[in-house]
Amino acid sequence: MAPKRDYYRNGDAARNARRRNDPGSRARDNDRRHMANKRDYYEVLGVERDASPEEIKKAYRQKARQLHPDVNREDPHAEEQFKELGEAYDAVSDPQKRAAYDRFGHAGLSGAAGGGGRGAGFDDMFGDILGGFFNVGGMGGGRPTNRGNDLRYDLEITLEEAAFGGERTIRFPHQATCGTCHGTGSENGRVTTCVACGGTGQRQANAGFLGMQFTTVTPCERCGATGQIITNPCTACHGAGRTRTMDELSITVPQGVDSGMYMEFGGKGDAGPHSGPAGDLAVVFHVKAHPVFTRKGADLICETALPFTTAALGGKVSVPTLDGQAEIDVPPGTQPGHIFHLKGKGMPTQRGAHRGDQHIVVGIAVPTDLDPKQRELLRELADARGENIDHKHKGVFQKVKDVVGDVVDEYRDRAKEAFGG
Ligand SMILES: [Zn+2]
Ligand SMILES: [Zn+2]
Repeated sequence: MAPKRDYYRNGDAARNARRRNDPGSRARDNDRRHMANKRDYYEVLGVERDASPEEIKKAYRQKARQLHPDVNREDPHAEEQFKELGEAYDAVSDPQKRAAYDRFGHAGLSGAAGGGGRGAGFDDMFGDILGGFFNVGGMGGGRPTNRGNDLRYDLEITLEEAAFGGERTIRFPHQATCGTCHGTGSENGRVTTCVACGGTGQRQANAGFLGMQFTTVTPCERCGATGQIITNPCTACHGAGRTRTMDELSITVPQGVDSGMYMEFGGKGDAGPHSGPAGDLAVVFHVKAHPVFTRKGADLICETALPFTTAALGGKVSVPTLDGQAEIDVPPGTQPGHIFHLKGKGMPTQRGAHRGDQHIVVGIAVPTDLDPKQRELLRELADARGENIDHKHKGVFQKVKDVVGDVVDEYRDRAKEAFGG
């Protein structure tokens, strides 16, 4: 997709051609000048202007995965870019909005596409990323105004927990419905109708502008848009209907989970004010670095240091796996940088259906604690092989350099082959 984006951003010829065929592009170029921070939606999505809805959807999903803030916690711009992407998709995936945008540019949408990342396609995308770990419910528009806040809990787990799943109990503070007044905020349950709004919770005001009449509707401030006034506020919650409490929740860590994935628990967020519906709780997983294994998708990589005699003569070596120790047959003459593979000893895939592989990169342990007898034996060996490193031998450093150079090259090639660059 990247080359296509360049085509739009840099290609003057392409832009001129576009202008000839498309009267709206001038408008877009103009408003690009006015709204310097607003990029072309097609450019944001990395698709051509005549891209099909399928191509747009595909590009969006791909980019959303790259830019999702939970995946890019280090990048301060990720959230912004993610929002921008959501806005672009929101506009371009809707045939009507797309037509308006194509003709008039950003001005054609004037505020209509202020998505902010939670617009169209959001549910869609997460279903995809998380492989069905959770159900996103009630994320679209039309939320009641007295709905409680959504909460986020960052949960650190070990690689073993990520591999095999497990139960965790989290404790988190949130606004819970007041137990004394059951969320009504009233000590005795008595309420009176708000005189300011007549019980509707809304206030209307008329305004004139350029000879036109408008009616604006705003939430009533007097009663907090509830339409009711509490005469005797509950002493436990001071009339708020909610109190801050610690809550506990048991979580089943899904097998194969990776950092940035999350589970959502509907109704476990803050209770809504004035008996409003509760928000949701998202538990975001973070897999801790492991002392032995590096994770690469479903594969695990680790290193082992073979005794140099084992590397030369062959033998068996025991290596750690997620399932305990495993024995590897080391063929004679095994070189540093060689990679052994253990099939099915990696991480489970998201649904736990199968497991990736474990790759063991060979290093050579050179002994540093030789006793006099061992030293003598090695000297004899070196003599027998004509490798005795005596100061009178010239060119020996070149020889060492050659060998090391070969090993480094070989390691690099093998690692590339094994892990795709
Ligand atoms: Zn109360
Ligand atoms: Zn009112």
